[in-house]
Amino acid sequence: MWVIGLVLLAFGGGVWLGASRWRRLATEGSRDAVGLRLLHELAEGDYEHVAAELEAICEAEPHEPAVFLALAAIDRHRGRLSRAKALHRVVLASSELEHDERVAGLVGLGRDLLTEGNVPAAAGALNRANSLAPSSPATLESLARALDRAGAWEPSATAWERLERHVSGRRARAARVGRGRALAGQALDALRLGETEKARKLAARGLELAPDSGFAWLVEARAAASAHDALVAWQRAWELAGVGAGTIVAEGMQWARENDRVAALVARLRGSLRGTAHPASVVALASELYDHDSEAAVSAWQRVADHSSEAQLALLRTAVAGLDLPGVEPALLEPGPSAFVCLACAATVDEFAFRCSHCGRWDSLCDARAPRRRTRQRLDDLPAAD
Ligand SMILES: [Zn+2]
Repeated sequence: MWVIGLVLLAFGGGVWLGASRWRRLATEGSRDAVGLRLLHELAEGDYEHVAAELEAICEAEPHEPAVFLALAAIDRHRGRLSRAKALHRVVLASSELEHDERVAGLVGLGRDLLTEGNVPAAAGALNRANSLAPSSPATLESLARALDRAGAWEPSATAWERLERHVSGRRARAARVGRGRALAGQALDALRLGETEKARKLAARGLELAPDSGFAWLVEARAAASAHDALVAWQRAWELAGVGAGTIVAEGMQWARENDRVAALVARLRGSLRGTAHPASVVALASELYDHDSEAAVSAWQRVADHSSEAQLALLRTAVAGLDLPGVEPALLEPGPSAFVCLACAATVDEFAFRCSHCGRWDSLCDARAPRRRTRQRLDDLPAAD
């Protein structure tokens, strides 16, 4: 492990001070206390300070891969990707690693590469980790999430399945949902390759495991064998999309035109509108209905106008459009949110998706114009952080 010591030389003078402090503490037998304090600082998000302490510990204990792995993970969180990768590679170069430490190192490196946007290299490292079959649930979960984010659906489904067998209760349910989404992802890949039958089977299995996943319903809508199944799936998908309903309805409408089912789809749109009281969903659905049934759309907006400035704006836009004023920009009359914000990482994206393209969280996007109102309610529903 002497290589790690050499790498540490690059850390600079502050490390030496820290190292001597660590040795002093170590002789006083207060390592447990230091560990607990670091844990608390970590929970508070004080990455800079924790990193400085870990550097000191690495210097004093160059034979502890776990500390190096922790430091590398913190480096990634605070944007120091090059050093995170270097630390992971140094740990992986050691021949004395325990099995799970090697897996953790590969998962960490995979996550560095994912953060960097290097998906093929990340998938390579993560698949290597997967082939080593981690036995610790924490590493297995980390691996499943990372594979999921890399879009490596097949190994991701395997990792979620393995995790489900190792955990119980809420975590097992989350693993089953993870596997359902991964199977839906595999169905998407099969559709892209024209393997329709395979796609249908995978989509159906994905829905069985993740019946509340908008993504799984969207894939089912695209793969469905019958028009009736597709209509049901489009409706479920836009209902689960919430503020992103507009995107799903638009795609469903395209499908309906191609399959001569516009009237049936509009009927389902009306049904969804009657069934929801959530202002953001009402606004999104009514905006899509407006072209087909302006009266129903206007009455839906009026129903929630007291609780929604977006509904008031939609009514105003409709009134302006009715005046047929020359020179009024059509963009002013465009309904629906024009940007979404991720409740997990605060990234802003133009297009709705069931998964945030920045942090990989599922079902975390909300309307960028009114994020705060839904934050508390929605964050409780989000899966545990990576
Ligand atoms: Zn995000």
